[in-house]
Amino acid sequence: MYDLLIKGGHVLDPGQGLDGELDIAIADGKIARIAAGLQAEDAARVLEIRGDGRHVVPGLIDMHTHVADGAVTAGVGMGCCDPDAIGVHSGVTTVSDCGSVGVANLGVFPAYILPKAKTRVITFVNVGSYAHTMPGPADVNSLDDINRDALVKAAEHNPGLIAGVKLRIVGPAFGEIGEDIITKAKAAARDLDVPLMVHIGDFTARDEASAVRRGELTRFLLKTFEPGDILTHLCTPNSGRVLDPSGQPYPEVAEARANGVVLDSALGRGNFGIEVARRQADVGLYPDTISSDLTAMGQSFHSLLECMAKFMSVGYSLADVVRATTVSAAAALGLPDQLGAIAIGRDADLTILDVAEGDFAFTDTTGQAFRGGYGLAPVYTIRAGQEFSPGWGTHPWGWLPASA
Ligand SMILES: [Zn+2]
Repeated sequence: MYDLLIKGGHVLDPGQGLDGELDIAIADGKIARIAAGLQAEDAARVLEIRGDGRHVVPGLIDMHTHVADGAVTAGVGMGCCDPDAIGVHSGVTTVSDCGSVGVANLGVFPAYILPKAKTRVITFVNVGSYAHTMPGPADVNSLDDINRDALVKAAEHNPGLIAGVKLRIVGPAFGEIGEDIITKAKAAARDLDVPLMVHIGDFTARDEASAVRRGELTRFLLKTFEPGDILTHLCTPNSGRVLDPSGQPYPEVAEARANGVVLDSALGRGNFGIEVARRQADVGLYPDTISSDLTAMGQSFHSLLECMAKFMSVGYSLADVVRATTVSAAAALGLPDQLGAIAIGRDADLTILDVAEGDFAFTDTTGQAFRGGYGLAPVYTIRAGQEFSPGWGTHPWGWLPASA
């Protein structure tokens, strides 16, 4: 007897090569069977999936978010999201927090956030300022802000907690000692044997000389990266982007990708330029992973599903954007055997979503408007066999992007 049968859906799992009408049986929170025509009588509950454009995909992974909810005093520093609000109630089964907190207040995760979250939460610690809550533009102002000893102690006392180390290349210190900061952050990640994730796109570096300097640092970063390290904000229009002034990717980008570096998109409120994304698509520089970079402020602007729809407007297929938020994200997080696939024996993490065709209006983070032909909306989220309904949605009218 199965606990739950997902019946009649169009199953799309690009990582497993599943694309068609299949039923999925769940027992004890795990995927028990995947086949067409499973019997409703064999399950305690049946979830009938009907309707044009309704798909069953592996539980979506948002690998760049900010969910250190409660670590920041309201009104001070960056507001974070409730992990379940942008997780299981938004069609997402796994979120990564990417450096909302530093080594001294990382303890908020095991003490308060992980015990109550229904969404799987993965944490990247901010390498910068000791007790960190993203208070201002710059996280690292001197080499002393990176405390390798404290990071090692935090990892020793919290086994399995730190999945990666996060650095933001933002602020004036990078103009002078950028290479040294990158090198020290990489050493800190190596101490912990975890990936280094680095934010490119410095909105504080606006003059010509600073912009040129940030370009140099991005090239240095790409050469410093090792397999599994993660560049985030691939499509940033800000200084430090991966395209040279003529619109060609720096040669280090292809070298890094060939070496197993992950290129994450993390759109956020500041780092998605539609012209950059289109140019990159034209030259075959596609993102490995799509993520939202959601913060409390961002929650009323967009969602992971809307980020996926923005990439569909550039020309990526539904399978492409699902791949970028499932199997590819699982690999980027070092969990390819646990996440991102509809496979027997795995946790039953599923997202059921509607793909709506229409004429939708989007805005990039420079304010430039663009249109797209698809909008995505969550219908149900299944996390380890447990079913969750979506919240109201990003917009006053719900989940779909604005109509053009
Ligand atoms: Zn972020």
